[in-house]
Amino acid sequence: MTEEKSEFKILEKELKKEFKNAWDNIENREEAFDFADEYKKFLDNSKTERLCVEEIIEYAENNGYVNLDDLIKDGKKLETGDKVYAINRGKSVVMALIGKENVSKGLNIVGSHIDSPRLDLKPNPLYEDSNLALMKTHYYGGIRKYQWATIPLAIHGVVITKDNKIVKVSYGENENEPVFYISDLLPHLAKDQAKKTLAEGINGENLNIIVGSIPYGDKDTKEKVKLNVLRILNEKYNLIEEDFLSAEIEIVPAGKARDIGFDRGLIGGYGHDDRVCTFAALKGILEIEVPTKTAMTVFTDKEEVGSQGNTGAQSKFVENVVSEMINLQEDFNQLKVRRAITNTQVLSADVGAGLDPTFPEVSEKLNSAFIGNGVQLVKYTGARGKGGCNDANAEFVGEVRKIFNDNNITWQAGELGKIDQGGGGTIAYLLANDGAEVVDCGTPVLSMHSPFELISKADLFMTYRAYKAFMNR
Ligand code: MN
Ligand code: MN
Repeated sequence: MTEEKSEFKILEKELKKEFKNAWDNIENREEAFDFADEYKKFLDNSKTERLCVEEIIEYAENNGYVNLDDLIKDGKKLETGDKVYAINRGKSVVMALIGKENVSKGLNIVGSHIDSPRLDLKPNPLYEDSNLALMKTHYYGGIRKYQWATIPLAIHGVVITKDNKIVKVSYGENENEPVFYISDLLPHLAKDQAKKTLAEGINGENLNIIVGSIPYGDKDTKEKVKLNVLRILNEKYNLIEEDFLSAEIEIVPAGKARDIGFDRGLIGGYGHDDRVCTFAALKGILEIEVPTKTAMTVFTDKEEVGSQGNTGAQSKFVENVVSEMINLQEDFNQLKVRRAITNTQVLSADVGAGLDPTFPEVSEKLNSAFIGNGVQLVKYTGARGKGGCNDANAEFVGEVRKIFNDNNITWQAGELGKIDQGGGGTIAYLLANDGAEVVDCGTPVLSMHSPFELISKADLFMTYRAYKAFMNR
């Protein structure tokens, strides 16, 4: 005999929103674990925006994507089903799968950013003090500075030498390579520092990385430890001190992403913000069949400092690519570009703040994302009275919600913490300013912007399925 449900139970099921754990909605958990393993490799290879671009291009080319510039050079047309990518100065990249309709009818875009908070070398970084060689850094993006001391650090970047040669620098990731280090005070002598606020305990000018300690030279040589570091850099990379001026060298946490917890359900790693959404979008576009509208992924630089510059989302790069694509399909005019963008829908693919059970006081439980409850749909970000936000239109949010529900995706709504506790933004408002429909949607993270951020493998998997469903239309 089956148990009869009470009318209240039935009413509850009909009316109340059910919050599901994403794991309960993943039939084959091995699939989510395998996906996470591939993501960890992607993350380990993508420590900077430039390295991330290289990684994305490799994925793209291995899956039949061709450089849009080559198509233009060869005077080819763009056809339904064509796969193209375009690189912007090695720091941002877009991919597009041409749909059944012309690009001028609008696109479905998933846009993430591939820069992460870090330390950049100053233009004149190297000095010697107290038998140590050190390098001055200037932090990039919103970091909590005290978190970057006393951890192993690696160096990645490019240097343009005096003969205009590009030298790629990468040091500190392999087990047999040395790492770099920022010191902090011992507790025994930290009486004054301990009275300072967390924000002031380690300040920007304290973020000096130790890069050497062995002298080189004779009794007349000044700054022998510094000279030795320069000698090694010259041997290894053919660099001289002045080259640092025309360089972009980034200091990031050394080491690989790791599983976290006895059940291995979480991933700790540097740069989940926002390479987790990047990987989810990348895998999504690679796996869809030819959609009705052209599917596009945008992987942009400079989000962490406001999206300015010619590689940030404020640049005209995406619009230029859309223009080129229209020009390869039909008679070109500007109005077609404007109309294409107006008819474009965008998921601004960025991570959200998950509720941290150790610090619940900064979140409002009813409107927070929880680790494990799936991909997070964020109608608006901003600070205080929604300042600086992109507030997605209800009609569009409704459409996205339906896509997710129709595709059995575990999703949750969420704000970025309590009102007046702080706030933040994404690239959402930029394409929205041009007239596209945009809503924020991404993976919830704990310890965001720290050297070792935390996400759930189930949330990662739902994010990928969500982006894939969104582009597969
Ligand atoms: Mn982000
Ligand atoms: Mn961020």
